[in-house]
Amino acid sequence: MQSFKGSCHCGAIHFSFEAEPIAKGIRCNCSFCAKRGVMVSLVPGDKFKIDAQEGALNSYQFGKKQTKHYFCAHCGIHTYSEATRWPGQYVVNLGCVEGVDTFALETTVFDGKHLI
Ligand SMILES: [Zn+2]
Repeated sequence: MQSFKGSCHCGAIHFSFEAEPIAKGIRCNCSFCAKRGVMVSLVPGDKFKIDAQEGALNSYQFGKKQTKHYFCAHCGIHTYSEATRWPGQYVVNLGCVEGVDTFALETTVFDGKHLI
């Protein structure tokens, strides 16, 4: 297990978690993720800690509302999501995680376009 830290762009939202070293990223082709161009990873929720300034954490849902996409009310950056499809896990925006180079990761595609 490795410890990771992450934050939004302005720093109003910080988070940390423990997970296996991140070697792969997931890109989702659903209507929301495709527009954001985000790369994510699933991480265990039991050690996921969130430290957000009051009023900073907003969430967005669409469609069947099975996923809550959290973003910063100040800088607009999406930090992580919670999805009923993956109970007990967080879907983390790897672009927000310190020490992870999303441009160097191997990528897999999740077919959210047809599954969400
Ligand atoms: Zn922010």
